[in-house]
Amino acid sequence: MKDLFKLPANLVVSKIKNGEFSAEEYISVIIGRINETDGRINSFITTNFEDALEKSKKIDKKIQTGEKTGIFAGIPIGIKDNINVKGLKNTCASRMLSDYISPYNATVIDRLEDQDAIVIGKLNMDEFGMGTTSEFSAYGPVRNPWNTEYVAGGSSGGSAAAVSSLQIPISLGSDTGGSIRCPASFCSVIGLKPTYGTVSRNGLVSYSNSLEQIGPIARTIFDIVPLLNTISGEDINDNTTSPSTNFCRIKSDEELRTAKFKVGLLSDLIQSSDHQIISGIQDKIDLLEKHHHHLENIKLSMIDFAVAAYYIIATAEASSNLSRFDNIRYGYHLNPEGYEWTSYFSKSRSLFGDEVKLRILLGSYVLSAGYFGKYYAKAQLVRSLIRNEFKNLFQKFDIILLPTMPVLPFKLGEKISNPVEIYNLDLFTIIANLTGLPAISIPAGFSKEGFPFGVQLIANAFEEQKLVDIAVLFEKEADYGECFPEL
Ligand code: GLN
Repeated sequence: MKDLFKLPANLVVSKIKNGEFSAEEYISVIIGRINETDGRINSFITTNFEDALEKSKKIDKKIQTGEKTGIFAGIPIGIKDNINVKGLKNTCASRMLSDYISPYNATVIDRLEDQDAIVIGKLNMDEFGMGTTSEFSAYGPVRNPWNTEYVAGGSSGGSAAAVSSLQIPISLGSDTGGSIRCPASFCSVIGLKPTYGTVSRNGLVSYSNSLEQIGPIARTIFDIVPLLNTISGEDINDNTTSPSTNFCRIKSDEELRTAKFKVGLLSDLIQSSDHQIISGIQDKIDLLEKHHHHLENIKLSMIDFAVAAYYIIATAEASSNLSRFDNIRYGYHLNPEGYEWTSYFSKSRSLFGDEVKLRILLGSYVLSAGYFGKYYAKAQLVRSLIRNEFKNLFQKFDIILLPTMPVLPFKLGEKISNPVEIYNLDLFTIIANLTGLPAISIPAGFSKEGFPFGVQLIANAFEEQKLVDIAVLFEKEADYGECFPEL
């Protein structure tokens, strides 16, 4: 009973439904695991244990009385702290929202609760999703479960670290420029950024709305698929959601044997990565070759401009989205007595952390009169050129392969004072956000020092199924599912 926290969600559901153990017993084990480990990881900002236990009892009752239960019956899920869950704090890891309690559920939460998933808590992150390491949190950094002196990746560091450290089997993150995939790579879990428009953003606190999507994180693709299917689909509360249904499934071995993909390898990016990552990625390429997929080296001619374009667009949108945190509409309740208007306003805006302030300033600058054409309009042009390049590539290829991150996890604090160095680490992930394409990070191995890294696959819009097919192949051959960090 004690080791139940090691099981993937799909197995737990069937065991709860078969009566091998109850949802309440399982949730109690999970609570014990979180209490035992989170002092070292810091993945949770808020826990919801009492409510979770109550819900588990209700699910047990439903099972006893033969009532229909959902596909996540009794499964605890952790939610990044920028996705609203009714009645729980939604801090975005910011002092600005430290006492903000969500009055409503994000659409994804309603959909998960309809399937009897249980929200066990809210997860740590970079403030408002701005970061690549989860060090920019008002609640302290998330620590990498494989070595707690190292960063977990970000901005959804809590979502990846909680799953990797066996605190919970599944979580949700959000990915504006790699925030699901980067920590998935650093923590050795699977993270998927869906095609733009697949998952409703209603209830997600916007950072850069034209780039971001909510997406699933889990230790196995067998849990990613039902999670993705549950949260996907058109939503009347988000008019950027698409009516296309891209429902995924795990195909049979026979079907997978006959599917042959054309895979484009972004060889320049692969070669520019850490040497241990290069050799791990080569193993995955060899595996695809062994399974008779067709491989070819490809190049992206606009890649050198991607980071600049991303940071212009992301900060421009951030400066506008974060203007609502003015302590009048949203934000900390500062007593206005004794302040005149401008000092009240600047005092309240000072609650943002330094990285957030930096981005608001940058974003306001690139949008200001006289600079708009020089920066923002150019960035949008680069974005559409990159989109066109991908459109052409997908006439010929099914999948594009590259590492998720060019580097292994690094020490906490090591790069924190050099924002440009950190921004450049996003190069491999931002291309999927600039283009709106679906991308997945799958564990691809460990360095000799024991640090994980991921391989990234990008598919054409609404072709998540192809990402799933390759992920199943990699998972079956790698068996990394049984490799857990020692805590
Ligand atoms: N590291 C990127 C940024 O800081 C991506 C963040 C994200 O995806 N939320 O913008």
